[in-house]
Amino acid sequence: MNDMTKEVEAKSRELLKDAYSLGASDIHFIPRKEDTLIELRINGYLYQLAILSRYQAQRLINHFKFLSGMDIGERRLPQSGAMLALINHDAVSLRMSTLPTPNSESLVIRLLPQRKELTIDDLSVFEEATQGLSSLLNYENGLILISGPTGSGKTTTLYTLLSSLQKRYNSRVITLEDPIEKQNDAFIQMEVNERADFTYADGFKAILRHDPDIVMIGEIRDEETAQIAVRASLTGHLVLSTVHASSASMTIRRLIELGIPRFDLKETLVGVIAERLVSIQCPVCGPVCRPDCENRHHPKRTGVFEILAGMPLHDLLTNSHSHRQPDYKTIEDYLQEGMAMGWIPRDLSRGRD
Ligand SMILES: [Zn+2]
Repeated sequence: MNDMTKEVEAKSRELLKDAYSLGASDIHFIPRKEDTLIELRINGYLYQLAILSRYQAQRLINHFKFLSGMDIGERRLPQSGAMLALINHDAVSLRMSTLPTPNSESLVIRLLPQRKELTIDDLSVFEEATQGLSSLLNYENGLILISGPTGSGKTTTLYTLLSSLQKRYNSRVITLEDPIEKQNDAFIQMEVNERADFTYADGFKAILRHDPDIVMIGEIRDEETAQIAVRASLTGHLVLSTVHASSASMTIRRLIELGIPRFDLKETLVGVIAERLVSIQCPVCGPVCRPDCENRHHPKRTGVFEILAGMPLHDLLTNSHSHRQPDYKTIEDYLQEGMAMGWIPRDLSRGRD
């Protein structure tokens, strides 16, 4: 491959990446007398992205025509084509269409993201968090709880953990939810229907007959669901669920309030995650990245995770009356660190829930 081809390839990849990261639905190549305008349609509006020489633009258009199966030699008739691209690790289907104009060809690329399956690495920009979450994938039985206020991202984290576990062990995952929040073909998903008299307890009995490896209970919200989650983990399954609580230690307190003996928690609980979703900015450029900044594709928000597992969890469950703070980092510690690194704006971090 010669240098010029490589350059066109790199340019086309960069264009797709910029458009996708900005949430564009379409990329427009508009040929003019002297040059070619590149515009992005974002939320229905067109924004100018760049101006290329007609020569550069035609090379990019030829490249896209080639990739999407169009006839490169044909420039006087409209054509259409399609291709699948991997952008930022996501599969994106691209629909292309050309129109002949007096000034040369116009190309429009429509970006159609396929349903995105997140990995643990997508959940946080903080490596300590993604490493902590990954370490929870080593458990094959026990209880893992995810807590956080509404809108903290705990459902996304729950599904991402489940899907990572499913792939790692090729496990049978059965979920019991009210309602099913995200459909996933790799799981067997069941919905509680109180009106039809199909309760959590009924669903749970049915699940245990269905030979699961991993059981997901949508939310522990009362004594019944708490009992079900703990009982399933005592029978040798890995159980994941969410709890509406503000921290890992509050989650444990909540389960005890719901009548779970501390002794059962010691037997089953292998990890408690507490999560917040925070707005982030580039540590180098601030709210808006320079076009050449290596962080320019960073997400707008990220998860901050407190993970209580191993010895600190054991200590907390054993020494309930001790006033010594168990040795683990809290959400507040991580927020402070994020601010010190410049990822979390200091003004925005106040007044969150
Ligand atoms: Zn930047």
